[in-house]
Amino acid sequence: MCSLGSYNSFVATFSFKQARECVLAKVAEARPTPCAEHAGLLAAAGRVLAELVLADRDYPPFARSVRDGFAVRAADLPGELQVIGEVRAGEISTLVVEAGQAIEIMTGAPMPAGADSVVMVEHTTVLGGKVSVQRTLRAGENVSPQGCEARRESVLLEPGRLLGFAEIALLAAAGRTQVSVFRKPQVAILATGDEIVEVHETPLDYQIRNSNAQSLAVQVLRAGGCPNILPIARDRYDDTRQLVEQGLQFDLLLLSGGVSAGKYDIGKYDIVERVLSDLGGEFFFDRVLIQPGQPLVFRKAQGKFFFGLPGNPASTMVTFEVFGRAAVELLGGQADPMQPLLESRLAKDFKQKTGLTRFLPAWLSSDGSEVTTLHWQGSGDVPALARSNAFLVTEPDRENWAAGEMIRVLLK
Ligand code: AMP
Ligand code: MG
Repeated sequence: MCSLGSYNSFVATFSFKQARECVLAKVAEARPTPCAEHAGLLAAAGRVLAELVLADRDYPPFARSVRDGFAVRAADLPGELQVIGEVRAGEISTLVVEAGQAIEIMTGAPMPAGADSVVMVEHTTVLGGKVSVQRTLRAGENVSPQGCEARRESVLLEPGRLLGFAEIALLAAAGRTQVSVFRKPQVAILATGDEIVEVHETPLDYQIRNSNAQSLAVQVLRAGGCPNILPIARDRYDDTRQLVEQGLQFDLLLLSGGVSAGKYDIGKYDIVERVLSDLGGEFFFDRVLIQPGQPLVFRKAQGKFFFGLPGNPASTMVTFEVFGRAAVELLGGQADPMQPLLESRLAKDFKQKTGLTRFLPAWLSSDGSEVTTLHWQGSGDVPALARSNAFLVTEPDRENWAAGEMIRVLLK
């Protein structure tokens, strides 16, 4: 369904869901396994694991108490037990708990021989050398048996896992100071347009600064890629073609600007389309029923994937976030690209025309419970985008939304 073979002037229009599935499927099926490199633990945070990590020993390595209390034999309870000693974390007791006996034990301490459970200190009364317990206890209660979390030689982490703080903690627990991670994908960013000037230049009245290359670079970094900003391509065939070919040397090419909604009439200024058409390759879609970002090209040429993102800043941001980001994550070796979509309650009613999945700049309350649309002037309104912390995501077949209803939110 997804591939239409070599390029012609056919317009392939996809829904949001179809387009996302197409990107995920095409990149996942064709991506080469990235090269690996070694990184220290902290440098590995935010990177993608390239090796299989096995448990060096059982976790926990010994049966341990998960509470402060008394190590006992469950069958002795309820009753009064003689306290024969104490064991703390970092110690091992040589004493054996016999019938009618208990050993005071701290969280994390190894279970003494003979005991099968731990009664919490809150459930005991200590008098002299004795501890009185009024309740029963299940054998094994408040004890983590040896190896219950992971067995020695079992798989702790698989290649393709994004390394966050918990994964780094696991690597640290397993004694890994170095780990193999995938090399970051190199992503070329190519802004197009005669009206665009570099950020350090002084624009004339009718020119605008190249903000898209910067937002894309930040988004690529966040997705675990390495951004490479190319010079701005002017709206001339030779210039655009040369820079597109340069961009195709990288693992992924992101073009911003120069793609328009209708392909039947390739106009004088649709340079990008002519260049793409001449380059050949595989063509997946060139229009997605979303707003912002309807004219969106996803193709492959010279063995490399590329996106032609519409140039309006909101369109560039949104289309990268919902499609380009997954491609960068997959090319970086990630097994499961995530889309940070959640649900929140609408603070105000709003209306929209049906037919498109819309991404509207919004403000999500700090506890995530409530979301409000922000007033904006459309896809070019960068100040409004900077005032938002999220996008509301509407359903294409819904016209009216009432305050209090749940709605999808894409975190920014
Ligand atoms: P285009 O997709 O080339 O038709 O551009 C659509 C709108 O986005 C126009 O108003 C452009 O000026 C603006 N635009 C295009 N490229 C950029 C860029 N790199 N940075 C900021 N705005 C841009
Ligand atoms: Mg343009």
